[in-house]
Amino acid sequence: MSFPPLVEPAAELTVEEVRRYSRHLIIPDVGMAGQKRLKNARVLVIGAGGLGSPALMYLAAAGVGTIGVAEFDEVDESNLQRQIIHGQSDIGRPKAESARDSIAQINPLVTVVVHPERLDNDNVLDVFGGYDLIVDGTDNFATRYMVNDAAFFLGIPYVWGSIYRFDGQASAFWPTATLADGSGAEAPCYRCLYPEPPPPGMVPSCAEGGVLGVLCAAIGSIQVNEAIKLLTGIGEPLVGRLMIYDALEMEYRKLKVRKDPACALCGENPTVTGLIDYDTFCGAISDAAADAAAGHTISVSQLDLMLKERENGERDFVLVDVREPNEFEINRIPGAVLVPKGEFLNGTALEKLPPVDAGTQVVLHCKSGVRSAECLAILKGAGYDDAVHVGGGVVAWVNQIDPSQPSY
Ligand SMILES: [Zn+2]
Repeated sequence: MSFPPLVEPAAELTVEEVRRYSRHLIIPDVGMAGQKRLKNARVLVIGAGGLGSPALMYLAAAGVGTIGVAEFDEVDESNLQRQIIHGQSDIGRPKAESARDSIAQINPLVTVVVHPERLDNDNVLDVFGGYDLIVDGTDNFATRYMVNDAAFFLGIPYVWGSIYRFDGQASAFWPTATLADGSGAEAPCYRCLYPEPPPPGMVPSCAEGGVLGVLCAAIGSIQVNEAIKLLTGIGEPLVGRLMIYDALEMEYRKLKVRKDPACALCGENPTVTGLIDYDTFCGAISDAAADAAAGHTISVSQLDLMLKERENGERDFVLVDVREPNEFEINRIPGAVLVPKGEFLNGTALEKLPPVDAGTQVVLHCKSGVRSAECLAILKGAGYDDAVHVGGGVVAWVNQIDPSQPSY
């Protein structure tokens, strides 16, 4: 069963619009009324990245009249493997501007509103307030919870998607709505599905773990599909259901998601009654890692100096790269030995390091400094009191010390 259409139809379509959207107009479920609703619709896409790229392109092609792009980042070469709204000549440009230009090529009849600032507690309600529906293409937990809470407070539905390697998920959250299945039950929110963010460092990001580029198209197009259904009131949207996609097995599964009466946001006794500190809620790194890293973090310049001193025989230490072997293939800090984080977690890493009583300092690094801080906490627990990790990891090394190596 469908929901009532989210948007009232525009007064009319121009001759040009009728020509352009004719393949929609001849679908009975969409028709003239559905296309007029799309013309009147205002949809905000958060992020012009992996999910945002296909989402923005298909929303534009479909004739969604006003499309917002919330994105503050710039186009990097490593984005082009999946962020197909940007091209080679866009490298270094603001993603929001690049996306706006691509949309103008796809469909000049739609209006693009650029929000080039980072969405935060100070602006998110204002920005969301100008839209009928949100498409969430963010890749971090702090923003996801903020989007969920802000959409709930404003009563705006949003379509969520997530991707990692070969796995994708999508759903639509509209917790102020009643489910369309005739049960009379209220729809769940993202917090009903995921009450707590995962412990920091436990779930790798796509930047750490990778993502198959074409997976973005599979999930991003599902998000647009759901957006169109909600805007025009057709079909059965993913409200109250979670879509799970496995690209390797080529399998789509759907799970029912129920409202959690104990949900901190939309439950019976809510404790989240306004926007909260999402960075603290999600924690950039665990408390143990933060404690271990305090006073035991060196910069890449310090490491560079230490490596030169080691070469001259002035000091001795072991530099350990805790990333995965395939990351080590892409770039590395010279002289580092690879011991992946998993070996720290299962204890086998200690067998590969000099014993504590040998007095040899251990220096850890990873891609950005999150995983190495987690491993540092483990080393401290094993008695390596003078161990340190490298803030910013190999990303900072490539940026500041050795730009000849590729970044990823
Ligand atoms: Zn909830």
